[in-house]
Amino acid sequence: MSFNAFELCSGCLKQLGKVMILVVVAFVVLTAAAMLNAYGPCLGHERVGKAFGCFLGLLVFFSLVCMLLWSYFAAFLTEPGRVPAGWSPFSSEEEAQLEAERAEARSPEQGKGVAGSGRLRYCRKCHGWKPERTHHDSMAGRCVLKMDHYCVWIANTVGLCNYKAFLLFLFYTFWACLLAACMLLGEVVSFFRGLDTVSPEQSSRFALTLLAFIVDIAFALSLGGLLGMHARMVWLNVTTIEMFEKRRVTQWPFDRGPRRNFQEVFGASAWRWWLPTHTRQEQERMLDAALAAQPFEEAMGTEFANL
Ligand SMILES: [Zn+2]
Repeated sequence: MSFNAFELCSGCLKQLGKVMILVVVAFVVLTAAAMLNAYGPCLGHERVGKAFGCFLGLLVFFSLVCMLLWSYFAAFLTEPGRVPAGWSPFSSEEEAQLEAERAEARSPEQGKGVAGSGRLRYCRKCHGWKPERTHHDSMAGRCVLKMDHYCVWIANTVGLCNYKAFLLFLFYTFWACLLAACMLLGEVVSFFRGLDTVSPEQSSRFALTLLAFIVDIAFALSLGGLLGMHARMVWLNVTTIEMFEKRRVTQWPFDRGPRRNFQEVFGASAWRWWLPTHTRQEQERMLDAALAAQPFEEAMGTEFANL
């Protein structure tokens, strides 16, 4: 029996993904409990202004939590973008079959291509043609349209259909963590100021606040960096994989300007930008664009990509 380190790593990542779902839910429960613990009693405060301030803070926080959970499960449950069975860039099935046989006969090292280079792309693992910006996803064992990366946090591959949900998950989680950290900061400071007069019961309640505060700070910092990186990629219309491939392409053909690049991911309707879903019309348009005939004609029969 041969040992395959890659398969072992893929298996580990899949199992880790299942654990990560529990980690995300546990993190949300922890922060929500800490916020209710710190600000729940304040809702009945005799000063109406203070009670209203606490209510407003909790309302915004729990609204962000609802949106982050919706985005999370949308990213987790949405199929990232499958290449339709039998798809090919050729006008006839016979031609596609003939060229596929030629592509299979070539060595794997020969003719490796990148998105945006206008070269024909054939997947040796799926034994089928794939549109530009499509990559083979080893975790799921199939090609994914506009594949970005496999995300262990959502236990799914991020691709054409769930990239918006993934970005909104990052966005809402970042703001929920930042808001919670800012609101819990006051509790942390006042606890340490009155350390001499703290009762054991207060200490045990504070442990929850402190733990949530530290976790929120850590998440806000790391998600802020990740959001910044993805904002730049949306601006330029590149995926994480293409960030590396793009260096090998002199002129990036998918960059249509920041506004259109943004709309390609989030849609044209401003109020729907905030929702982790696509309308049927948007889905069809995205799929059509992803499968649209590329400038393959000039490369046809000369070069093949076997990524
Ligand atoms: Zn494939």
